[in-house]
Amino acid sequence: MSDSLQRFLLEGTPVRGEIVQLDATWRAVLERRDYPQPLETLLGEMMAAGALLSATLKFDGALIMQMQGDGPIRLLVVEATSEHTLRATAKWEGDIPPGSIRTLLGNGKFVITIAPEAGKQAYQGVVALEGATMSEVLEHYMKTSEQLDTRLWLASDTAKAGGLLLQRLPGRPNYDPDAWNRATKIGETITKRELLNLPARDIIHRLYHQEDIRLFDERPTAFRCSCTRERVTAMLRLLGSEEVHSVLSEQGLVEVACEFCGRQYVFDAVDAEQVFATDIQTSARQTRH
Ligand SMILES: [Zn+2]
Repeated sequence: MSDSLQRFLLEGTPVRGEIVQLDATWRAVLERRDYPQPLETLLGEMMAAGALLSATLKFDGALIMQMQGDGPIRLLVVEATSEHTLRATAKWEGDIPPGSIRTLLGNGKFVITIAPEAGKQAYQGVVALEGATMSEVLEHYMKTSEQLDTRLWLASDTAKAGGLLLQRLPGRPNYDPDAWNRATKIGETITKRELLNLPARDIIHRLYHQEDIRLFDERPTAFRCSCTRERVTAMLRLLGSEEVHSVLSEQGLVEVACEFCGRQYVFDAVDAEQVFATDIQTSARQTRH
């Protein structure tokens, strides 16, 4: 099944695994924007990685992965929710030559934010962009920030994105000590073609048929954007009345396009009055004091 996550465990070992295959979920990103090819590959891999990491973490809310740099690619963003919905976007400048993640993003950092449901504390982890590939950057993050041995294999093309994650679960000293090395060595034989085209259960069987495999239920993924007019309104308030009114007087309308899904939000002069109506009330109250 495509657009799904498949979890598995190697029984009697500290190794757990997760496979993701994105089909319509990934194409929904591609349909909304034309990305230069090397960037598109990276964004697809990052989306697969976002689905995998969000599936291994215990949280309710959104996991936001951001890579920021000073190279031709300025920003890659993937957001994955605990309900396995995903969205992604990127910013870049000029032509994007093929190259390592280091040459494409330059000096940069990798930020993971866990934004829980309202009322709970957000968590943010930041590391330098270490590694030549998307997998290496994420493995470095998991090791330094989460103290978890994690291996990732990622692939993406113009129709699909997919990935395999292996993780060594901590605190299992009695388990087969060689299992992690064995599982990752076999993991290294996975090809991008298999990740994108072979059903998840076939991949697991192909790799680990000599192990005692426990399979969990597949969970579906989907593209979903969480943008709303309320959020855009809040963003315009942050921008300030002066800025918004200057755009209004130049263009007659304020048009804001969601960077993730491309949806257009249009504000005319009357809408803009409403955006800042609470501000006016606040300042009126302050004047009275
Ligand atoms: Zn949107």
